[in-house]
Amino acid sequence: MTISRIPRFYKLSVEERHLELRGRLGLDDEDVRTLAGGALSIDAANNMIENVISTHALPLGLGLNFRVNDRDYIVPMCVEEPSVVAAASNAAKSVRDGGGFTAEADPPIMIAQVQLVNVPDTEAATEAILSRRASLLEACDEAIPSLVRRGGGARDIEVRTLVPSTARVPSTEHVPGTEQGRGMLAVHLLVDCQDAMGANMVNTVAEAVAGRLAALAGGEPGLRILSNLADRRRVRVRCLVPLHALETKEFSGERVRDGVIAASRFAELDPYRAATHNKGVMNGVDAVTLATGNDWRGVEAGAHAYAARDGRYRPLSIWRLGPGGVLQGELEMPMVIGTVGGTTRAHPGARLALKLLGNPGASELGMVIASVGLASNLSALRALACEGIQRGHMSLHARSVAMTAGATGALVEQVARELSELGDVRLERAVAILARIEA
Ligand code: NDP
Repeated sequence: MTISRIPRFYKLSVEERHLELRGRLGLDDEDVRTLAGGALSIDAANNMIENVISTHALPLGLGLNFRVNDRDYIVPMCVEEPSVVAAASNAAKSVRDGGGFTAEADPPIMIAQVQLVNVPDTEAATEAILSRRASLLEACDEAIPSLVRRGGGARDIEVRTLVPSTARVPSTEHVPGTEQGRGMLAVHLLVDCQDAMGANMVNTVAEAVAGRLAALAGGEPGLRILSNLADRRRVRVRCLVPLHALETKEFSGERVRDGVIAASRFAELDPYRAATHNKGVMNGVDAVTLATGNDWRGVEAGAHAYAARDGRYRPLSIWRLGPGGVLQGELEMPMVIGTVGGTTRAHPGARLALKLLGNPGASELGMVIASVGLASNLSALRALACEGIQRGHMSLHARSVAMTAGATGALVEQVARELSELGDVRLERAVAILARIEA
């Protein structure tokens, strides 16, 4: 069913949008109350973090037109930046014309790191740990019995030598834990976390076996914590965009396609550009991550560490000439998210966001999030390459400036229009226009 296509949704009032969702997704009264502003009570907030004095609201919009692996999604997006939701929805429509997004996800494997310091013989320690792989995995599983019952659990152990015991460390670089003739290891415990993001779970596992690992290595345990560079839990998403879906009044589909490919190449060659290219991806990724109550700092950290995995910062997505001359986009990134645990179920707004998405599992949600990232990226590149992003941004920026100047209701649009027409979107100009209208 094409539930994610809601023509003229942007023209409806907020109340009419709620009504539309009631019919389309079967929302109940409580859901609608949550949408109408009851998402997070002070009591709930007070139980979530420390020193609470209030709650902080951000707009929640819907990304429309998304089709991922032949399934339609209405995507909740929480973001303060104008145009992100419209841009993603618009790009998703173009991608839909090419069959939608095709995505796949790795098994939900998180990495827990156990640092071992003052290891007298790093080679022998590595061998000692790996030769006890089976019993160590059993010990890991004993720390997370309910996850094991759900089909998850420890899957593998890897040992990485960070400082070999044979290293000659200059005295000026002395670091406690790597004395002369002592080395440092990082032991990776790979844990299948099912639908949880898994930070607390894998931290528990690391705590449980750190002592035993240190004893096997003849060293001491150091840090025990997950890695946000979750490169065993990646998602890959691909799309094909037909030329007719790219063409604008001014530009042919071929020209837009080539502009996007050239912009992608720029990012592949230059980390300065890649950072902004990836910011465009994260516009979509973060908005859904935040809406669903996930730890977006973890997703951000993982994305950028992965982008720099070979020592150079690279774009997370690339755009190329696809079959038959269409535009082809591909994105790959780690996806440290869950649909249970953390605040995903404790925050009523996050719970409702997951409901709007059809209550997906973590892997499915990861594929949707990555698709929204690729859509946001396409939209930015398309605008940048062909029209200059400034024009589109200006009119949205003008609305913010109009509101800052004190305009409300219909006056926002009127002041913003005048600012855009003047090509002078400054606050003092907005104040003057507003004063003139209201005089
Ligand atoms: P939780 O500690 O909430 O653990 C997940 C919970 O989900 C468990 O209680 C588990 O139950 C339950 N669960 C129910 N159904 C399932 C299922 N199908 N699959 C898996 N678990 C299920 O959260 P996480 O371990 O996921 O940790 C996430 C939190 O950790 C976030 O709040 C994050 O901000 C925070 N964090 C992040 C760090 C980072 O570096 N990014 C560092 C430290 C914390 P049961 O107990 O019965 O197995």
